[in-house]
Amino acid sequence: MTKSILPGSTIGVLGGGQLGRMFAMAARRLGYRVHTLAPDHDTPTGQISDVEIVASYDDLDAVRAFARAVDVVTFEFENVSAAAAAVAEEHAIVRPNGRSLHVAQHRIREKTFLRDRGLPVAPFAIVRTAEDLAAAVQTVGVPAVLKTASFGYDGKGQAPIRRAEDATSAWEELGRAEAVLERFVELDREMSVIGARAVNGEWSHFGAIENTHSRHILDVSVAPADVPNALAARAADITRCVMEALDYVGLLCVEFFVTRSGELLVNEIAPRPHNSGHLTFDACRTSQFEQQLRAICGLPLGAADLLQPAAMANLLGDLWTGGIPNWTAALAFPSVKLHLYGKGAARPGRKMGHLTALAARREEARSLVLEARKALTAGREP
Ligand code: AMP
Repeated sequence: MTKSILPGSTIGVLGGGQLGRMFAMAARRLGYRVHTLAPDHDTPTGQISDVEIVASYDDLDAVRAFARAVDVVTFEFENVSAAAAAVAEEHAIVRPNGRSLHVAQHRIREKTFLRDRGLPVAPFAIVRTAEDLAAAVQTVGVPAVLKTASFGYDGKGQAPIRRAEDATSAWEELGRAEAVLERFVELDREMSVIGARAVNGEWSHFGAIENTHSRHILDVSVAPADVPNALAARAADITRCVMEALDYVGLLCVEFFVTRSGELLVNEIAPRPHNSGHLTFDACRTSQFEQQLRAICGLPLGAADLLQPAAMANLLGDLWTGGIPNWTAALAFPSVKLHLYGKGAARPGRKMGHLTALAARREEARSLVLEARKALTAGREP
């Protein structure tokens, strides 16, 4: 039997963003110590951690020393190299395992993994050469989206292809990088399921959460998703299937498309807490961050039930354009919670924080969170 990593132990977080910050908050509440490693100083995670190590993820000596000093390593950033993950695995327990990162951080491996397990994905083809591209356009058809295999997030590394003759210029735009060409599907809605899997295989999930995007960045999440129960159950089943196939320990998010014809397709998997799960902090008996902690420490999972319908709205740096947002106005909504990530520079598109609202019905929660966000920029001082 594997030993549990008990409160008082030290957790290592690779990555310095808001996901690590909220994880560190959950870990510290349970009496754990937290070390973080990221290339920057005074990161959102570092501000909450006991020890902040500033080093590149490719600095294998730094990763080795980091891993030796902790009881378990986890990630809030999945684009860590296979070499760094392997070094960490030599010196510490690493959860989730390096293989899961390897699959999730590369679209070709990810799509192939899903398809090979019979899980539903949009039709796609692999593009490595100009010949591949021409063949892909034939087999996948248009309209389609060309997506680079590595380092794509929030719509980065993507180029739409509306007509077959635009394919070459779209690929040029992506620097002729290794890519997948994916059929453009008519979306009814997008949703996600966040699952947790413990060391003993115990499994839990937060139900389907509905997501709307703006400029390819998550804008608003609402739970529970407004979809038939059977569809939500199937999405949860797919999530469990992915986690079991990867022998996964920790928290994982599967993003789904629901097509206009009611078909459920997997868009992508994220081997870590997810932006759509931020509402679990205020709305669920156990947050996604505490659940990640419990899973990676070999503890029993907490109840993931939603206490009330909830909505989350992201606060991007754009809100700062006309001055400091009017925090008092948003806080005047008694059932709205404000979360800020401690980031200095508010650049457009940068995730600076979020608001969560709880209400008796999901539509009410959604209206409330949007109203509170609007209040941030109404009548503020220049
Ligand atoms: P991704 O980075 O792959 O999650 O894509 C970002 C967003 O682009 C998704 O959340 C969708 O809104 C949209 N998108 C991506 N791929 C497709 C597709 N094949 N069909 C329709 N919309 C897509």
